[in-house]
Amino acid sequence: MEKWSTASSDKLYNLSNWGADLFSINRKGNVCVHPSPNSKYSIDLRVLIDDLIKRKIKPPILLRFMDILEGRISAINRAFKGAISDNEYPAQYRTFYPIKVNQQRQVVEAITEFGKRYNIGLEVGSKPELLIAISFATGKDIPIICNGYKDKAFIETVLYATRLGYDITIVVEKLFELEKIIALAREIGISPKLGVRVKLSSKGTGKWATSGGDGAKFGLRISEIMTAIELLREEHMLECLNLLHFHIGSQITKIDKIKSALIEGTRVYAEMCKLGVNLEYVDIGGGLGVDYDGSKSSYFSSVNYSVEEYANDVVYQIKNICDEVGVSCPNIISESGRAIVAHYSVLVTNVLDTSAQSLTPDFEEVLDSTETLAPTVKKLVDIYKSIDRHSLREDYHDTLQLIQEAVSLFNLGYLNLHDRAVAEWLCFKIFQKINSIVERLKLVPEELQNFQLSLRQTCFANFSLFQSIPDSWAIDQLFPIMPIQRLQQKPEINASIADITCDSDGEITSFVGENGRTKFLPLHRVKKNEDYFIGFFLIGAYQEILGDMHNLFGDTNAVHVTFNRKTGYKIDTVISGDAVWESLKYVQYKGPEILKHVRDTLEKSVASRKISIEQSSHFIELLDRTLVSYTYMGE
Ligand SMILES: *Cc1c(COP(=O)(O)O)cnc(C)c1O
Repeated sequence: MEKWSTASSDKLYNLSNWGADLFSINRKGNVCVHPSPNSKYSIDLRVLIDDLIKRKIKPPILLRFMDILEGRISAINRAFKGAISDNEYPAQYRTFYPIKVNQQRQVVEAITEFGKRYNIGLEVGSKPELLIAISFATGKDIPIICNGYKDKAFIETVLYATRLGYDITIVVEKLFELEKIIALAREIGISPKLGVRVKLSSKGTGKWATSGGDGAKFGLRISEIMTAIELLREEHMLECLNLLHFHIGSQITKIDKIKSALIEGTRVYAEMCKLGVNLEYVDIGGGLGVDYDGSKSSYFSSVNYSVEEYANDVVYQIKNICDEVGVSCPNIISESGRAIVAHYSVLVTNVLDTSAQSLTPDFEEVLDSTETLAPTVKKLVDIYKSIDRHSLREDYHDTLQLIQEAVSLFNLGYLNLHDRAVAEWLCFKIFQKINSIVERLKLVPEELQNFQLSLRQTCFANFSLFQSIPDSWAIDQLFPIMPIQRLQQKPEINASIADITCDSDGEITSFVGENGRTKFLPLHRVKKNEDYFIGFFLIGAYQEILGDMHNLFGDTNAVHVTFNRKTGYKIDTVISGDAVWESLKYVQYKGPEILKHVRDTLEKSVASRKISIEQSSHFIELLDRTLVSYTYMGE
C-alpha cells in the first residue's frame, strides 16, 4: 500500500489545479490560504476557524480574504500590460469591475482601493448599483459604465451626475433608450458620454451562451446601430458616441469563442469608424472564466485558456483587424467580474454527522451462526465469506439479485424484520469488500466502476446550499469542496454532502476530483467529539447575492481577513449573520408578537396546572434566546 501524504490529498482533491497558487496544504495537513500566488506567507484555515470559534463566531463562516482581490486585479492587468507590449499595441487597457458580481460594500471598496494603480472603473446595471458607483466615485477619479435597461430616472441621474463632473458612459442597450437619452440631454442641456452595445452573431459557450447570438436579450442589431448613428447625427450628438460594447456571456469556456466574438466585434468597430463615428473604446464585456474544477478543459466548470492567453488574444485580434482595415486601435476595456472575485471567499462549516458511523448496526454474530437465518440471507453470508478477486463480478450480480429477493420475500411476509435488516447489512459489507478489491485492481470492469456509488454515505454539513452556493443547485455549477484538516491522512469515506434545509435538492452529489467530476467527496471518519470542517472554495462571484432564504436560513456570519506578517492574520470586520428574528422579519413576522402568543397560552396552562411556573418561564427564556440566535445549527 502506498503511503498517504499531503501530496496525495492535493492530488485527490485536485487542489493545485484549481487553487491558482492561492491555496495549499501545510505540513500539519491543513489547508492554507496565501495572500498572493505562491507567497511563502499563508494563513492556516483550520487555525483561523478554531480561533474564530474561540471568539464565539459560529459556523457556517464565510471567510473573505481581501488580499486575494488585489492579486487577481493585478494578475489581469499584468496580463494585458504584457500583451500590449508584446503586440506593440498603440492604445491602453482598463478594467471595469461589474458590481453585480459581488456588491458587498467592503468588496467594492477594496477593489476600487487596490484598483487605483490600474485606474479601475465600475460597471453598473441598475439604479441601486448606479448609486453605489456614484458614492465610490465621489471625489475620486473612477469612471463608470452603465449597462442594462434604463428608465427616465436612471438616465436623468446619469446626466446630472455628468454635469457635476462624474465620468459616466451610458451604454445604449435598446433604441428607445436612445430617444429618451437624446430628449433628456437636450432638456438638461448636457452632452452625455454614450456607448452602444452590439448584438453579435457569435455566441459564448455553456450556461450563458444565450447572452450572445442573434436571440440575445440585450444589444442593438447591426441595422439598429445604423439607425442609432443616423439619429445621433441628425441631433448633432454623434461625437458623444465613443464606446462600442459587447458581452457574449459569463464563464466562456473556449478561447476560440472569445476569438470569434472579438473578430466580429472589432469588424463592427472598424466599420463604425469608417462611417465617421469617433469611437475611442472597445468594451469586450465579461466572460473571462474561472477554472473551478482545475481540469483546464472546455467543460463548463473550467476554461481551456489562461488569463495571459485571454489578454494576448484580445489584444492581438483587435490590432490585427484595425491594422488590416487601417483604423486606429481603440483603448480596450474588459468587465471581468467572476475572474476578479471568485477566489476571494471560502465558506467553512462543520460536518454534523458522517452517518452510518457510531450507530451503525452490527450483526457480526450472524456470520458464526447462520442456522436461524432465512435461506436467501444465508446465501448472502456465503458470498460475503467467499468473495475474492476472481468471483467479483458474479458475486456482485448475485448480491444485487439476492437483496431484491429479500425485499420481495419481506413484502410477502416470508422474511422477518431482523432478517431483512441483516440482508441490508450484509449487502453493505459485501459492497465494502468489493470496493477494497476494486481499489487495488488496475483494470476495473466497467459495470463495477459506478458501483462505488452504492457505498456513498450522506454527510450533513451545517449550511444551506440555497443561501451559500445557489448556483450549485440552479445550474449544476461545480465548486471545489474539501476537508480543511487531516489531509496527511487517507480519507476512508465516500460521501455526498447534504445541507440542513428540508429540501431533497439540498444535496451535492458532484465534486471536483483528481480526474475531473466525481460523484463523491472523500472524507475522513469523524471521531467522537472531533470538530471536522469542510471548505467550499471559489464562491466569491455571484453566490453571495444570488443566495436565498430557503427554510429561513439567513445570511451566514462573514469575517474579513487580511494577511499580517507579524500575527499571521488580522481580522478586519466581523459581520454577524442573520438572527432568527431577522429572518422572520423578512417575511413579516414580529418576534415580540410570537412571544406574546406563547405567553398567553402559557398563562392558561399554568392556571390549569398543565405546566409549572418554572417550566413556563424556562420556555419563554428559551424562545427569547432562539429569537436572537443564529439560524444555523448550534450544539
Ligand atoms: C455580468 C456581466 C459582466 C460580468 O461577467 P463575468 O463573466 O462575471 O466577468 C460584464 N459585463 C456585463 C455587461 C455583464 O452583464
